[in-house]
Amino acid sequence: MRVPRHTVSVKRIAVLGATGSIGRQALEVIDANVELELVAASSGTTPIDGLAPLTQVGGDVTELLERARADVILNAIVGFAGVHATLWALEHGVTLALANKESLVAAGDLALGAQERGRGLLLPVDSEHSAMHQLVADRSRDQVRSLVLTGSGGPFRGRRREELEDVTPDEALAHPTWSMGPKITVDSATLANKGLEVIEAHFLFGLPYDRIEVVVHPTSIVHALVRLRDGAVLAHLGYPDMRVPISYALTYPERAATPVPPLELRTLEFHEPDVNTFRMLALGREAGEKGGTYPCAYNAANEVAVRAFLDGRIGFLDIAAAVEDVLARVDGAPARDLEELVEADRRARELVLLQA
Ligand code: NAD
Ligand code: MG
Repeated sequence: MRVPRHTVSVKRIAVLGATGSIGRQALEVIDANVELELVAASSGTTPIDGLAPLTQVGGDVTELLERARADVILNAIVGFAGVHATLWALEHGVTLALANKESLVAAGDLALGAQERGRGLLLPVDSEHSAMHQLVADRSRDQVRSLVLTGSGGPFRGRRREELEDVTPDEALAHPTWSMGPKITVDSATLANKGLEVIEAHFLFGLPYDRIEVVVHPTSIVHALVRLRDGAVLAHLGYPDMRVPISYALTYPERAATPVPPLELRTLEFHEPDVNTFRMLALGREAGEKGGTYPCAYNAANEVAVRAFLDGRIGFLDIAAAVEDVLARVDGAPARDLEELVEADRRARELVLLQA
């Protein structure tokens, strides 16, 4: 039987976390492309009846995924709560467009195992990792000397420790270059976001931590660089607009057009990150190097501390202090399955000491 061409090329997309910053931009990308069809959507608590043929609010998203028969699952849930969807997609070999970096950080080893069995694609949506994916492509790891992640430095770039004691949630939420959900915006202010991204890059690209660098680049035009062994350095540039990496992951390997304007070329600035003031970057790298469930604990403690900071229960500097304290007290033993990982996440959350 001959199948009409349009039914062959249309990709069925499930968007998890459809009411969030990434989720809403993904709906825009899907709406604008006739080759993408939204078949399922989920949210944490906001009602979304009618948004897609299949919808789910809260609960176990893997039930929605079973029914959706999607070609691509965009995981744009925030936090460890996204881990079930990540592992389900990888295990079932369904292409995973991954915005939810926390799941890969916490469950990196389990995720790689699931991907090996499922043999599906894992396409990063995080802008730096999307850029790296484009730069590294199928290049052999021997050619790559190191990956360089860029970060804007957040709203408090250049400040000393003493100047951060009394900063408020509103000040932390005023990101200079990206407009994002509240949790990742605070992570960008503490540099926990870069800490998470170093670990994310390690699992995505299979390089040891000493070959993953971080550089501060205030305008967020260069998203990542790759140093090759012959001395060449490749960079990926573009306006900070998440519709580009979302579209890249949803239309891969097609690269559909987006409404993002052509880039005007201007001066590009780079600085060393201040890891003494912004402890979360150094702590993330340390947790990644220790391996096991240390990255899971780093993420869990950070999630609890960020919530407390946003609720006004602790100060900005208490976030890193709380995470450092938890990392010193967990055993970090590897998790053999999702159940053990969920338990490690729960234990780390319980260990967070919050003093106002
Ligand atoms: P957001 O807070 O704007 O949205 C989060 C979404 O997840 C919402 O739809 C919410 O309903 C849903 N959700 C929250 N808790 C849930 C739960 N327990 N179970 C199921 N669904 C739940 O967050 P965001 O900024 O869109 O970020 C989403 C993810 O993408 C995060 O992991 C973030 O680190 C990553 N990311 C975001 C950006 C960005 O520009 N916003 C950039 C890179 C990476
Ligand atoms: Mg990023």
